Amino acid sequence: MLKVHSRCDLSCDHCYIYQHADQTWRGRPARMPPATVRRAARRIAEHAREHGVPVVHVVLHGGEPLLLGAAGLREVLAELRAAITPWARLDLRLQTNGVLLDEELCRLFVEYDVRVGVSLDGDRAANDRHRVFAHGGSSHDQVRRALALLRRPEHRASYAGILCTVDVRNDPDRVYEALLAERPPRVDLLLPHATWDHPPLRPGPDPTPYARWLGRIHRRWVDDGRPVSIRMFEALRPGGGGTEAFGLAPADVLVIETDGAWEQVDSLKTAYHGAAGTGLDVFDHPVDEVVRHPGVAVRQDGVDGLCATCRACPVVDRCGGGLYAHRWRTGSGFDNPSVYCPDLLGLIDAVNAYPPPTPPASGEWSATAPVDELLDDLATGHGSTSTLALLAATQLSITRALLAACRDRFGSTAAWDLLIHLDQAAPDAVQAVLAHPFVRPALVHRLDPAALPGLGAALDPLPALAVAAALRAGVPATVRVPLRAGAITVPTLGDLVLPGPGESAEVTVGPGEFRARIGSVERTVSLDPLAPPSTGWLPTRDVPVPGGRLLIEDGDPYRDCYGQPVEPRLEAPAARALGRTLTDAWRVVQRDVPAHAAALDGGLRAVVPLAPDPARPLRSATARHAFGAVAVTPHPDPETLAVLLVHEWQHAKLGAVLDLYDLVEPGQGTRIRVPWRPDPRPPEGVLQGVYAHLAVTQVWRSRADTDDPDASAQAAHFRAWTRDGVEALLASRSLTAAGERFVGQLRHALEETRVGSG
Ligand code: SF4
Ligand code: SF4
Repeated sequence: MLKVHSRCDLSCDHCYIYQHADQTWRGRPARMPPATVRRAARRIAEHAREHGVPVVHVVLHGGEPLLLGAAGLREVLAELRAAITPWARLDLRLQTNGVLLDEELCRLFVEYDVRVGVSLDGDRAANDRHRVFAHGGSSHDQVRRALALLRRPEHRASYAGILCTVDVRNDPDRVYEALLAERPPRVDLLLPHATWDHPPLRPGPDPTPYARWLGRIHRRWVDDGRPVSIRMFEALRPGGGGTEAFGLAPADVLVIETDGAWEQVDSLKTAYHGAAGTGLDVFDHPVDEVVRHPGVAVRQDGVDGLCATCRACPVVDRCGGGLYAHRWRTGSGFDNPSVYCPDLLGLIDAVNAYPPPTPPASGEWSATAPVDELLDDLATGHGSTSTLALLAATQLSITRALLAACRDRFGSTAAWDLLIHLDQAAPDAVQAVLAHPFVRPALVHRLDPAALPGLGAALDPLPALAVAAALRAGVPATVRVPLRAGAITVPTLGDLVLPGPGESAEVTVGPGEFRARIGSVERTVSLDPLAPPSTGWLPTRDVPVPGGRLLIEDGDPYRDCYGQPVEPRLEAPAARALGRTLTDAWRVVQRDVPAHAAALDGGLRAVVPLAPDPARPLRSATARHAFGAVAVTPHPDPETLAVLLVHEWQHAKLGAVLDLYDLVEPGQGTRIRVPWRPDPRPPEGVLQGVYAHLAVTQVWRSRADTDDPDASAQAAHFRAWTRDGVEALLASRSLTAAGERFVGQLRHALEETRVGSG
């Protein structure tokens, strides 16, 4: 957490920074100076590099971070991106009171992929109870205007959610409805900071008013089909994963103050003056040294770091003793249960009791799986580039797991050893090969030929993968590669047709070339694009698209995994024509739905031409095992192809999501009628249809603002299909909790597409 500005334009009376025990803000610079930002960014990057940290989360915080202004924030964001992204994926967030948020800032946050959380305590009465200016005036209108800006389609990717501090004097129903009206991707409900020295407000005789208040909202939320992610409730469910405030996960937050001081979580400021301090700073102390600070170290100990009462508590794995700061009592320090202990027990009871639990099918974890922000982001209809990167990373993990399964099943080989060596010596080369969409089908087919019928004999794909990686890495190697139909395929690079009989070829990799030998016949292939064509070599072809380069995959035999006939290798003029149309289609997507173009950039790597079928001239497909590719019949019209690309990429993304989450209750056998198919469909098929049609609606909705005469009707048509699918899914009771939330959020995204909406 980076405190980029230590002052605030509001004067909330429940603010733990200015109104509670700690007053260290008074001695700190208002703004974090550029030199401190640079130093902080380098410290974080240094830690990511040294420990191979895959993802770094940085929250810009205050005070009020927007007081830095657009120019100041741009400098901070540029500094963080430049320093950290070479070493780790950077998840950037910002928490604001919203008062100063304007269009320029929203554009900046979209540009830098920053997700913005806004503080709002509910309806006007609830919000005005605390969240006011120094002169006592309400901030409610400004905050709602900020939320409306974030809801706009062009800013929606930067809308992280709402943070709401609970006050039990507010009406829980009105607070819940006010929060939902802002259509946030996520709601964070926060208990007001309190300690045993300064207990929370408990008006009236009820000893657990917070459990009752939150229990009321929980019941509404469940009855409404969990239309939004509410982190507190999700964290408190069995296996919910916890948060900073609940559960036993190690604390993983450090704060950098405007003067460069390292501090512990800033909620500690509620305990006593200086409670969050460490005496360390970014100028002289690396992260590793801060992590050894006793205040941080004690919070890595899970249940062993809790007081005796909590250790003996039956719900300790879910409660975790509550927020660390809430355990403070002068004399015994933090060695106490939370001051909210009775409320936490009551709330966990309420979450358990409603709805009545149904036993999960044996071996299933989905009903209680932790809910991930990835789902919320994809429920916008497209998903941010960071989410797409995460999906691609999880797909790569699956491919690596399949690779290891092949080794376990068939034993170590020279190709395996070479891949392992290259993975250490040239990881980028191995990754570029393993990320190829048709590596996973090859591995699946090797492990279970029946899973992908039609691909012929199950050959060992590892030698060809090792050759491709060695060629990319420029590492000399010799491997024996099996032949399929008289050719070897070097994934991502091309096919080599070899003469004569033989089951395998000896392939020797040299600098920029390789030789393949069968018996006495040898072919040498140069990869130099300026060299004369090599006999028998059919290189892959790619085309420029705004996001990079897109492979026209018409050679890899494992592309034949779509359940539809694929086109054999295209003649050069046909490949050039398809390439031009794909480039233009990508530009059309960028023109119509930039957020979907960014999602294509984030993962679409290859297009497979499908064989023409006069009965169905316009066909397209995705394959669950081939993330990163879509298959289409080569269509000459870029406007049409653009819709197909967006449509199919939705299926690919959702397929990758379904590798991570069960969104549909397994084994129910439910069938649902939908308007786009004559036969009743299983829920997963309906979910796929809804997700694809939502995106198509978004394309046509955008075109409706142009002079395209059909666009409004098309938008209305696909919108009706999507709406009917969403409602049918929600009514089917076939979705898991995560699925219900996801589909509920799709419904919100669909509302944004109404013709006439801004
Ligand atoms: S907006 Fe946040 S930082 Fe500012 S006074 Fe209110 S609670 Fe404190
Ligand atoms: S704070 Fe209370 S409910 Fe939570 S773990 Fe400790 S004893 Fe249990």
